[in-house]
Amino acid sequence: LPKRILVTGGAGYIGSHFCKALAQEGIEPVVIDNLSRGHKDAVKWGPLEVADLRDREAVMRVLTRHEIEAVVHFAALAYVGESMVRPQLYYDNNLGGMSVLMSALAATGVNKIVFSSTCATYGIPDHLPITEETPQNPINPYGRTKLVSEWMLRDAAAASDLRYAALRYFNAAGADSEAEIGERHLPETHLIPLALMAAFGSAPPLKLFGTDYDTPDGTCIRDYIHVEDLARAHLLALSHLESGGDSLAVNLGTGTGASVREVIDAVTAVSGRSVPYELAPRREGDPAALVADPTRAFEILGFRARLRDLNRMVEDAMPWFQVETERV
Ligand code: UDP
Repeated sequence: LPKRILVTGGAGYIGSHFCKALAQEGIEPVVIDNLSRGHKDAVKWGPLEVADLRDREAVMRVLTRHEIEAVVHFAALAYVGESMVRPQLYYDNNLGGMSVLMSALAATGVNKIVFSSTCATYGIPDHLPITEETPQNPINPYGRTKLVSEWMLRDAAAASDLRYAALRYFNAAGADSEAEIGERHLPETHLIPLALMAAFGSAPPLKLFGTDYDTPDGTCIRDYIHVEDLARAHLLALSHLESGGDSLAVNLGTGTGASVREVIDAVTAVSGRSVPYELAPRREGDPAALVADPTRAFEILGFRARLRDLNRMVEDAMPWFQVETERV
């Protein structure tokens, strides 16, 4: 692994879990985060530089001061629904940040980057499971900012010595198994946290968005992958780049889907409480089913999700939501 690694968005959910994984490898991550959505107290394993990626001077300063060799770029706004209401915010933040970061990397000679992409770049897939060859036709501004970012990386790599790993996450879930860090979004919009909060009474009944999808139980199917597995995949991607590997784009999922009803059942089983819920109309922009074909990540990186059990993901997420009201 490279020794001097910059983690953008290291105060966020997946970024903070990656920082802990790096620390466990004996590497002190340098975090840059504007704290617009992240949590300062999630940065525990190295220095925090509070700055916006669109601030070129600040980014250059951080890259030089810490003699950065490689970047793992998590920082982005990541709510599908918000992106439909405030598209310009997403283009400014996600693509503005990407553009400045890439030009600063070029200017300082940093030529390795791991990038947080998403299954949202595929839109509504024409077949399942989704391979990396599935056409990318995102159906919301969030997904479009991530797809354009992939194009920026591909074009820069073709024209320079930059090498990148674009990791297309499916549904990140769970939390640090030692409960040092968790999943904390404000506002929370994700299924597992909301179902846990409903179970523990710190949120209203869960709204089950759509029961008339073309799936076995009528609810949406997603491929939930444990955030610790995601973090480990980033380590593998970094060492691939460090050892001279080619640029790549790979799916990160388990290859197994779970329906919204199955998630509710898992939360019920693990928490020992019933999950109050009510039926609600479909949420705009939700494809019926998204399941990864995880083959390529295994072939290129040797990555395979280990913590595949949905109950395990819920169990690791749960401690945070039992005490949610104290932490907010
Ligand atoms: N979902 C739901 N109620 C909620 C939040 C989510 O029924 O309050 C459903 C949503 O429609 C989707 C699945 O749960 O089918 C996962 O949604 P989430 O927002 O967690 O992740 P996404 O797939 O949108 O990235």
